[in-house]
Amino acid sequence: MPTTPSPAGAFDLDLNHRYLHYRRTKIVATIGPASSSPAMLRKLIQGGLDVARINFSHGKAEDHVAVIRLIRKIAASLGRSVAVLGDLCGPKIRVGEFEGGSIPLKEGSVVTITVKPVLGKPGLIPSQYKNLAREVVPGHAILLDDGNLELKVLRKRGDSVEARVVRGGTLKNKKGMNLPNTDLRIPALTEKDKSDVLHCIKAGVDYLALSFVRKPADLRDLKSWLARHGSDIPVVAKIEMPEALTNIAAIIELADGIMVARGDLGVELPAKKVPIIQNKLIALAIAAKKPVIVATQMLESMIEHSRPTRAEVTDVSSACLAGADAVMMSAETASGRYPAESLETMDSILRETEAYRFFSKGGEFGADVHKPAETLSAAIGAAAAQLSRDLMARCMITLTASGYTARMISADRPAAPILAFTPSEAVARRLHLLWGVYPFPSGKRLSVEQCLALGLRTAKRLDLVKKGEYVLAISGLRGVGGKDAAVTVRRLS
Ligand code: PGA
Ligand code: MN
Repeated sequence: MPTTPSPAGAFDLDLNHRYLHYRRTKIVATIGPASSSPAMLRKLIQGGLDVARINFSHGKAEDHVAVIRLIRKIAASLGRSVAVLGDLCGPKIRVGEFEGGSIPLKEGSVVTITVKPVLGKPGLIPSQYKNLAREVVPGHAILLDDGNLELKVLRKRGDSVEARVVRGGTLKNKKGMNLPNTDLRIPALTEKDKSDVLHCIKAGVDYLALSFVRKPADLRDLKSWLARHGSDIPVVAKIEMPEALTNIAAIIELADGIMVARGDLGVELPAKKVPIIQNKLIALAIAAKKPVIVATQMLESMIEHSRPTRAEVTDVSSACLAGADAVMMSAETASGRYPAESLETMDSILRETEAYRFFSKGGEFGADVHKPAETLSAAIGAAAAQLSRDLMARCMITLTASGYTARMISADRPAAPILAFTPSEAVARRLHLLWGVYPFPSGKRLSVEQCLALGLRTAKRLDLVKKGEYVLAISGLRGVGGKDAAVTVRRLS
């Protein structure tokens, strides 16, 4: 008689598996009113926060600068560092404010949208977007509050637009407005963004995120604004407009990373299209060796509840399986009731998923297909990742001046954590966003030999490696100064 296999046996899963010491997928958490107190920041940083996101869509720039300084201070007092991501508002169109804070929108009724700075009331919606009437066309959809409410443009009257309510409900102050059919002519970098960028430079943020990117020129605008002010802060392109998808290769090439900004993307496009786009964007970014963040609603229900839904747990795990560098929280940590619990939840889902992946597939985290590498650094990255799996290496030591070598090694998702040694504190902080990378600022330039010695000492101190186990050291991928690229395999004696 056949025996009934245990559920675990049936799927060849070890439900009591071990866990990895170092989480590979990074966590971005938005810092807001619920998380900007010293006590909560301390909790989040101790809980494993990798990147603190400051959302310039809300609040005053001066207050954000103060929070960034506080993050730095608290991280330093804990002997830690985190990256800070300044997320620029971009041309987000919003409705204004209403008498009493909200108005009802009745299905089938006709409302007027005005660009005059008035207080709204039933039937009258103010919006700050001056060119609204010039750019929309009768028949176009106007989505409000992340698509929860929908209007259809009937006609234009001077500066205002008349529209019929297609999907009704309550419209509250300052909710977002999306015009998925309209070809908007506003540039991604607004005057407000330019001023916020100056605050970000002053506060020393490690990344900027540019919202509503549609084409490479949007990134070029920000990069030249930065250059004009003597800054080279790396820029994450937020992919949330359909037009960005048609220009995606050029955008990824120019950007220093991308964000799958599912909030607006799922309003501009039908939400059902988001999952496949997400996976494609992750694969494209990894192929281009640029970091990719998956954002929005990952643990949405934890804004109100101390536990996530099963669907949310699955969502975080899927992003991890697809190989994202980082997953992000917005209101969960910025304004929700359970910021620390949200971080802890995300951390534990990632650890669980990574452990299955690692132990069931022999250290395999990466994509299943190997494409021939086109450059020296890609060839070495792929070879180092393969070596790490074949030898079950315990850590990868990289010497990286600009962060380039660490990024190349990370992109192949090797089996072991990447200890990245770099002279610069600023470069070290940027590396917190990258999959599997643990940065160590060395304060001074190191030779390849010094880096290997320091790396080995560090690996032993962290209990990463024991006698008989392998460590890989990678250096010189850029080939600058006539240096050879090198992969050193060291077996601990
Ligand atoms: P936002 O960007 O939170 O700044 O809108 C993320 C998104 O749209 O998903
Ligand atoms: Mn957005």
